[in-house]
Amino acid sequence: MTELDPRLRRLQAQAREWAAEMRPYALEVDADPDAVTRVAHLPALARVAALQIPPEFNPEPLVLGDQTYYLMSASERVVFFEEGACADLGMMLGSPGGPMSGVVVDALGSQEQKEWFFGRLLARPTWTFFALSEPEHGSDAVNMATTLTAPSDPDGPARLNGVKRYVGNAGRAEFGVVFARTGPGPLGFAAALVDASTPGFATTPVRTIGVRGAGLGEITLNDVELAPDRVLGAHLRPSRRGMAAWLRTFNLLRPAVAVMGVGVARAAYEYVLAERSSLRATERLRLERMERAIATTRRMLRAAAAAVDHDPSAGHFASAAKATSARLAERVTLAALDFFGPGARLEHPLLDKLVRDAGSVEYMEGTSNIQRLGVFSGLLRGAFPPLQATLLPTES
Ligand SMILES: Cc1cc2nc3c(=O)[nH]c(=O)nc-3n(C[C@H](O)[C@H](O)[C@H](O)COP(=O)(O)OP(=O)(O)OC[C@H]3O[C@@H](n4cnc5c(N)ncnc54)[C@H](O)[C@@H]3O)c2cc1C
Repeated sequence: MTELDPRLRRLQAQAREWAAEMRPYALEVDADPDAVTRVAHLPALARVAALQIPPEFNPEPLVLGDQTYYLMSASERVVFFEEGACADLGMMLGSPGGPMSGVVVDALGSQEQKEWFFGRLLARPTWTFFALSEPEHGSDAVNMATTLTAPSDPDGPARLNGVKRYVGNAGRAEFGVVFARTGPGPLGFAAALVDASTPGFATTPVRTIGVRGAGLGEITLNDVELAPDRVLGAHLRPSRRGMAAWLRTFNLLRPAVAVMGVGVARAAYEYVLAERSSLRATERLRLERMERAIATTRRMLRAAAAAVDHDPSAGHFASAAKATSARLAERVTLAALDFFGPGARLEHPLLDKLVRDAGSVEYMEGTSNIQRLGVFSGLLRGAFPPLQATLLPTES
């Protein structure tokens, strides 16, 4: 499914309307990331905070005509987030709610943990964090150094120690999910719900060139005490709550992250259309090529979203789409500069911001090299039959 059905078209129209209200604040948030909290009342941010909550916990879904939306499927998210990222990627990433941590809680949490997490999100617009990356372990999260140590006294608290870096909304979040090691081996991982007010929890901002609204930060965990009921998935078998389970969850998230590259590329393309009223023939051709590249990547992403909605282990399509989308965002934003001459970055601050934002897509949810490894492992598993068939020698 790559063309939108009427239901998703309706969602797209609503998202586009909300996104238009975000756009005027893009440069303000770029200059001052804290401005995100001042614009959190905008429907695109406030409403999204109360979405991405499973139906059993969400009494206030988005209702458009006779259709109800929870923004829980990858197919809905790619439609919605393209519009948000096209308006402003930093603001979209800086919106309240549980866009990433909520997916983990939904997949691994017990009934009580879900009530705790989603109940707090519904009470009022609240930011959350998803703390996986570390200063020395970004791509190789498997070797993370953060530890969750079991209590010596069975009734006592567990303890978290370590440093997480490049965590979105770190300084403004009230709670979130921290990923840690509980011991060696493939089952020695745990994800836990952590309250930012717990003693030993501290954050410092990380300055970034782009997506400043995302409020990236470092989280230090110094003997942070954790009640046993805050460890996600304790009710599940170890093989259902460890790294393999996380990877399935990340597959669900990947199309929505990847589509942000399409949103940024589209913003640059639309900027050229709006600001250059007359174009030479060669420029028109270049612009048409940009438009085609955006449309092709969008189709790829929608197909990848449908694939993970159908089977959450089918993340290799989304990996291919994520790598394509990161490259698209960089190429299209840089190509857009060429339409405005040598002073483009100074004279067109919005375009300059888009170029800086585009660079971040490469790093979110795994770099292109890591996505290529995902595609390759999919190939080895025979997950791309038509392509594989063309590579194999035919019998004659
Ligand atoms: C806007 C933004 C938001 C983010 N939000 C979050 C968040 O909310 N939570 C969170 O936990 N993290 C977040 N991150 C961090 C992100 O997940 C990491 O930046 C990413 O995983 C890469 O890790 P790294 O920066 O340490 O780079 P590294 O892993 O050090 O990679 C550096 C380079 O080495 C290459 N490389 C690494 N390993 C291999 C390999 N095995 N084979 C080939 N090449 C390799 C990479 O492709 C890359 O080019 C965010 C990042 C950005 C930019």
